[in-house]
This record gives sequence, structure tokens and C-alpha cells, in this order.
Amino acid sequence: MQFGDVIGQDHIKQKLIEEVNEGRIPHALLLCGNEGVGKLPLAIAYAQYICCTNKQSTDSCGTCPSCIKFKKLIHPDLHFMFPIVKNAKAKKEICDDYISDWRHFLEKMPYMSINNWLNELQAENSQAIIYARESDEIIRKLSLKSSEGGHKVSIIWLPERMHVVCANKLLKLLEEPPQKTIFILVSENPEMILPTILSRTQRLNIPRIEESCIANTLQTKYAIASADAQNIAHTANGSFVKALDAIHLNEEKRLFLIYLLA
Ligand SMILES: [Zn+2]
Repeated sequence: MQFGDVIGQDHIKQKLIEEVNEGRIPHALLLCGNEGVGKLPLAIAYAQYICCTNKQSTDSCGTCPSCIKFKKLIHPDLHFMFPIVKNAKAKKEICDDYISDWRHFLEKMPYMSINNWLNELQAENSQAIIYARESDEIIRKLSLKSSEGGHKVSIIWLPERMHVVCANKLLKLLEEPPQKTIFILVSENPEMILPTILSRTQRLNIPRIEESCIANTLQTKYAIASADAQNIAHTANGSFVKALDAIHLNEEKRLFLIYLLA
């Protein structure tokens, strides 16, 4: 995922790129904002930019060995923590057990909500959390040497859903971060994160996506007619997740009409 794949947010992209090029990469960055504004795509694009070996002035190169691994989200120094629902039967108990679902889902749907993710896990009515055991996993991974000699990046999606045991271990890591390790926390409810963790992060608020950027993406990438794209973008209120929901709703209505008329 490159900055070019992130809808709008030009100011944020520019700020992140400047920080990298001026050597001011924070140990822990907290991206805050509403659902659907592109925090997770931004986090991944930022991580890809940091690890890119042929950085351009406005984006990662997209073609170096690091970028190619990032494209498939399989870079060995890119780690994810995200809420899951344990599935004892399938022996799926930590994020790594879900990593192929996660990669597949992110490639298909980089703008997603927790409900989209729960649907993917077929766990719609469950409470997804980041379990206590996950902290041992991340400590183990980050204690390994960076495979490519560069930075190790750990992206934590929805840290507000983290078990308190895990949060306390994360705090220890943030207090004494392993060398060349970057944490990117992606949060919709930062007030639910431990204040001691918050105080260790550099916070960056991600605003709503501009309406014109949403409309433009709907037209160019989803082949939505101009007037419809404007309407959807207006009601989406800066959230691309809402815009996608509206498309699906329109599609369902259309299919239902076809069904009625058949
Ligand atoms: Zn590159």
C-alpha cells in the first residue's frame, strides 16, 4: 500500500514524508480519527515508505524488494496486531493464526470497519479483542533482528480493544523500545487507551476525507456515475467505509428491483 493508494489526506501524507526525510521518525505514532478516514491505509503506506530503499519525494518507489513484499503485506519486519475472536475449534488463538485472512482482507478492502472484519471472521456478534497472549508474541518478534537491517514496524489496529495485560506489556516496550522499532497505533477511541501509553505516543489526528476525493475515487475506481458519486460522497461524511456501504446498499436495492420486476 503506497501513499498513492490512500484517498485524499494530502496534508497528512506530506507531514509523514517530511518527518521521515528529516530523520524525525517517532518511536510510537498514534493515528486517531473516525472510522473510514483511512488511518490503517496511511499506517501501512507510512511503514512502506520508511522501509523503502528507493524513496521518492512523494511516495515509496513501489518496485524495490522491500516495496514488493509490502505490496503483499509479507515483509518480515512488518508486524500486525489486531482484534480477533478466538476460535478454539480451529485452533485460532493469536493474530498470526489469522494473518492470511487479514492480508487477504486488507488487500481486498483496505478501508474497513471492525464489523467488516468480524463478518470476514464469520463472528458477527462476537466481541473481538487483542488478547493478553499477543504481547508475548510481539515481544518475541521484536526481539529478533530486523531481517533487512532496517526498521521493524509494528502496526496495532484498534489498541483500545487490547486486554489490560497486553496493554501493560506494550507500555514496557514503549518505555524502552528495542532499537529501530516503530509502533503505529491506529485508534478510533483513543480515550479508551491507557493514559500511560498515550503519553508515550506522538498523536496525529486524521481528519475526514474531503468529499471531492471520495467522489473522485468512486468514479475512477468503482465506475459510479458522477451524480451518484457526488451524492454518496456527500452522505458519507468523510468516511470511505460509509461510501462503500452506500454502494452495496444501492446494489442490493437494484437487485431487489430486478427481482420484483422479474
Ligand atoms: Zn521501494
